[in-house]
Amino acid sequence: MIKASQKSRVLRSGESALSGGAANRPARHWGRIIPALKHFCLLTVAFCLLPCLCFAAPPIEELKSEARALVDARRTFTQQMVDEIFSFSELGFQEVETSAYITGILEKNGFQVTRGVAGMPTAFVATWGSGKPVIGFMADIDGLPETSQKPGVAYHAPLIDGGPGHGEGHNAGQALNLTAALVVKQIMMKYNIPGTIRVYPGIAEELLASRTYMVQAGLFRDLDVMLSTHIGSEFATSYGPGGSGLVSTEYSFHGQSAHAAGSPWMGRSALDAVELMDIGWNFRREHLRPEHRSHYVITHGGDQPNVVPPEASVWYFFREWDYEQIRDLHAIGTKIANAAAQMTDTTMTERVLAATWPGYFNKPVAEALSANIQAVGMPHWSEADIALARAAQIEMKATVEGLKTEVAPLKTEPARTNAGSDDIAEVSWNLPTVVLRFPGNIPNMIGHHWSSGIAMATPIAHQGTTVGAKAHAMTALDLLLKPELLAAARAYFAEQTSKTKWQPLIPDGTTAPVHLNREKMQRFRPELDKLRYDPSKYSTYLEQLGIKYPTVR
Ligand SMILES: [Zn+2]
Repeated sequence: MIKASQKSRVLRSGESALSGGAANRPARHWGRIIPALKHFCLLTVAFCLLPCLCFAAPPIEELKSEARALVDARRTFTQQMVDEIFSFSELGFQEVETSAYITGILEKNGFQVTRGVAGMPTAFVATWGSGKPVIGFMADIDGLPETSQKPGVAYHAPLIDGGPGHGEGHNAGQALNLTAALVVKQIMMKYNIPGTIRVYPGIAEELLASRTYMVQAGLFRDLDVMLSTHIGSEFATSYGPGGSGLVSTEYSFHGQSAHAAGSPWMGRSALDAVELMDIGWNFRREHLRPEHRSHYVITHGGDQPNVVPPEASVWYFFREWDYEQIRDLHAIGTKIANAAAQMTDTTMTERVLAATWPGYFNKPVAEALSANIQAVGMPHWSEADIALARAAQIEMKATVEGLKTEVAPLKTEPARTNAGSDDIAEVSWNLPTVVLRFPGNIPNMIGHHWSSGIAMATPIAHQGTTVGAKAHAMTALDLLLKPELLAAARAYFAEQTSKTKWQPLIPDGTTAPVHLNREKMQRFRPELDKLRYDPSKYSTYLEQLGIKYPTVR
């Protein structure tokens, strides 16, 4: 019999060839055993040099297979989260039910949850485990106005007329992360792997309006790597630059009301100031860098025509490609706003709502993630999935290609190809960060549109989320068990930030604009409550809604 102390030493060596018990072998085998013992000693020395206590775990490829099987075993759990969050359809900063639902699951699974972080009632940090490394999972949770759509229906069919919906598919990201995080936790417990897992929400991502505040609140200070995820039609990741940056700001003008027919000379129109600002900006546009993007909406334009509007507001996004250019563009906007106030004898106040840098993503972690994406492969789409995708593409007059069947190669995007923004960028300048794009949506739909919600509570989203959870869980295992990967990630990040240091684009003391979308959400909540998914009665949301899958013209 092998003694307990010997047994543990043998097991801890991780050398399976010796684990049968070298000490038990008859003397005639010493010729074979002595070289093996030399090998054993070398391995022991090598392992003593490693800082982690991962000896008890099987080789990482076996662990990853185990993780994939555990994700598969949670298919129903994943599908229910995708469907439930879809049914909440909550807008940015009003993700009350969504946040309560996600944190409830995390708490039930042993995570410690802190709610209401960084001045945002729906934001939270959920933590499990102890010590280093600390690996974060992040995904957006908010919906979009006027994108309500029946899932599985390949033409415009809102669940609520004019209502909010998941017209970008932010309902699936947290389902992916929770499945991945719980599987990683299970494996860490089983094999006594040290480290900490964190789960964070992307609050109000459609407004680019939470990560700046989360960074400033220090929520990522001790994090080693952030594994973020976003819905797509591809299974992919990239590194290097990604997206534009912006300042989101509202200029409000304050004038004097008067009877618009009786004594208009007594009035000072705040609406005139808004219009003159917009005219000034649109003339100036010709003399701005062609790379820039800017757009605005008038959020308040007065009440009725016979009252000179005493109050009016306009909300601008100023987009550019680096900190200095964004700051300068914003300064031009503010100068024009001040000039409009002078022309109209009104006063102007500004409320900066949000800001983000352009993103920059970590190459070593993206390489590890991409290798895992390749290993997992695409979902096996059914004929019904493909029929829905093709019908939606025909409906949208888009390229008819069905669903993606090949995983995408690792890419680095040439800068400035995608002018959209995502405030995960703020995180990417504060620690090594990657974004996993998972294939839960139909290719060639319009962004920020009901068509991007068609697939989001169907088997397409369910399967895409499951393969994505596998890739994320496997990458977290890489980070927990390969100190050389963490070191490479840190080195790449140090190079990225050696000359360019992040600083906020919002003025000191700016707080998160948590009032946004409040009234809109209050208006739709009663109808949305009736549509809430009940997994205790229906196996899927499609079943609850009585939708035949797929429903096509
Ligand atoms: Zn998004």
